Amino acid sequence: MGIPGKGTISKYGYREYINSPQWRAKRDDYWASKMPKDCYVCGAPRKPGMHLHHRTYKNLGNERLMDLVPVCPACHDDIHHVHQDPRFKSKGLWYATKEARKRRAKKS
Ligand SMILES: [Zn+2]
Ligand SMILES: [Zn+2]
Repeated sequence: MGIPGKGTISKYGYREYINSPQWRAKRDDYWASKMPKDCYVCGAPRKPGMHLHHRTYKNLGNERLMDLVPVCPACHDDIHHVHQDPRFKSKGLWYATKEARKRRAKKS
């Protein structure tokens, strides 16, 4: 999977980064911050195992907290499923994230 990495991330793969102490520290920062803690897609409150999804990979390895949104694992799958779709891929990750949220709102 090719991530258009710039900066520090380019020497790591995305998967390595996600398992790295830097990313773990970033997640801790996020959860300790005043940033929203509900799932961005379905609005479920924070629960164990919640993921942080990147609105953009532009700052991967040096994210600002506002680059991240909390999501349930299932909602996270939905986002990346939408993003795989060639119609959305070109529009970027944040566009796909908002699309997943829209689809979810329609379902319920
Ligand atoms: Zn959710
Ligand atoms: Zn994600």
